[in-house]
Amino acid sequence: MCIACRQGAGKRELIRVVRTEAGVKVDPTGKLSGRGAYLHPLRVCWEKALNHRLLQRALRTPVSAEDLDALARHAAALPDVEPDEDDDDAAQAS
Ligand SMILES: [Zn+2]
Repeated sequence: MCIACRQGAGKRELIRVVRTEAGVKVDPTGKLSGRGAYLHPLRVCWEKALNHRLLQRALRTPVSAEDLDALARHAAALPDVEPDEDDDDAAQAS
């Protein structure tokens, strides 16, 4: 479940953010050990998590300014909203 919008993954994978000894990092592989939190690969969810300190709450740790900056940069590269459902392949399947 995404910590920002509290919805399940749906058809898209959630991105794991993990609390490590080196700080709070994005974990694209999902393999880092540590307390993790999950977010949709959507900028709106990341901005909500960053603005409302949801990662700090979910991971029960402060997040350094440096890590917040890295997370914000990651968020900036994400798409704004979920792409439209009506892609051609799915429409022709039935
Ligand atoms: Zn979300």
